[in-house]
Amino acid sequence: MPAYNFLRQTSLVASPVRARQGLLNASGLARHQQGRRAMAFSTDRANTIGFIGLGAMGNHMLSNLISRYKQPGVGAEVGFALCDVDQAAMKSVVKRQGAEHPNVPLVSCSSPHDVAQRASTIISMVPTGKHVQEVYVGQGKSVLNALKSMSQDQRAATLCIDQSTIEQSVSKAVALHLREVGADLVDAPVSGGVVGAEKGTLAIMVGGSKSSFDRSLPCLQSMARKVTYCGDLGAGLAAKISNNLLLGITMLGLSEAMLLGKRLGVDPQVLADIINNSTGRCWSSEINHPVPGVEVGDSSPPAHRNYEGGFVTKLAHKDLALAVSAAEEANVPLAMGRCVEETYRPLATSKEFRDRDFSVVYEALDSLSSSARTSKR
Ligand code: NAD
Repeated sequence: MPAYNFLRQTSLVASPVRARQGLLNASGLARHQQGRRAMAFSTDRANTIGFIGLGAMGNHMLSNLISRYKQPGVGAEVGFALCDVDQAAMKSVVKRQGAEHPNVPLVSCSSPHDVAQRASTIISMVPTGKHVQEVYVGQGKSVLNALKSMSQDQRAATLCIDQSTIEQSVSKAVALHLREVGADLVDAPVSGGVVGAEKGTLAIMVGGSKSSFDRSLPCLQSMARKVTYCGDLGAGLAAKISNNLLLGITMLGLSEAMLLGKRLGVDPQVLADIINNSTGRCWSSEINHPVPGVEVGDSSPPAHRNYEGGFVTKLAHKDLALAVSAAEEANVPLAMGRCVEETYRPLATSKEFRDRDFSVVYEALDSLSSSARTSKR
């Protein structure tokens, strides 16, 4: 049984879709100057970084990579090969980056296969394990299929850096497939949300061989406040999944506490200030407060914008589900984690909630308990 039955909800606010602006009719080979003029992309593979997945996180991570990346050794010109299945998102990113960095070679790629042909370092930031499999080892135009037609030297020079939050088992299997042909992959999931991605202050947790970690550092440091080597393949994901389990627990706990306090007669702002000066303080209470109207320091949480932007509920639930299934495999009891996963599960598939920040669980609880109070009368 789910911990809460949100299906009984009555009045919910429609979900706004994340806006993606600006369409440019660019395709194929392009070096954008002043964001408009296309020139031939001539940067060689060794000096090209591929970026696959230019969504809420990826587009900002790319931006910092382009601005801050320092080529180890004597600096040749570095180019970037970009790819996203969402053509509108890709064109928008290419247009913006071309305008901001008119002298940096950029190329739009039609597939991960195309990216792998142009770039020896490939970064991915896609939603789920299924997408990561498709990108790297899929039947069609995947990275692996491109590598198969390359020389041994080119394969050995290929380093893949997957930054998506996915199952450890999928990541390890993909890495082993790539190793079979002489390339390598590190798992390098991130924490810090869209704001951290934009400011370049992410915390990045890396799993894989130490030598591949060392090779990945210049790229990762350009988007992060802290990059930590966690151990062998999958260790970065282990750290990320454990952190996000706790994040879900604290967000739901804070939402319940805020709702209880409000119903018992404390003003939400007063209660929020008390919690932030007491033992209940956490990231959700200090930075990402779930109650609309509550002011916390100078933060501007998604709750102030009808929960738009931020870490969307369907991805937060995906991470909780990853934690639950990882715990089953590892024989770890997860009473609280299961309860939180069950609470988020119906929200992750609901039109009203799935594309809004995961702090929207407060609104769901509030509206659920309001309808329960009405039906008691
Ligand atoms: P998103 O959905 O905004 O972006 C993902 C992008 O990948 C989309 O533009 C999509 O079109 C593209 N994509 C999907 N399949 C593809 C394919 N086969 N080839 C090329 N492009 C493909 O998601 P996001 O919020 O950027 O999250 C990405 C990953 O980062 C997820 O695993 C998520 O859990 C993790 N993460 C997200 C946040 C956050 O706050 N949003 C924070 C930390 C970690």
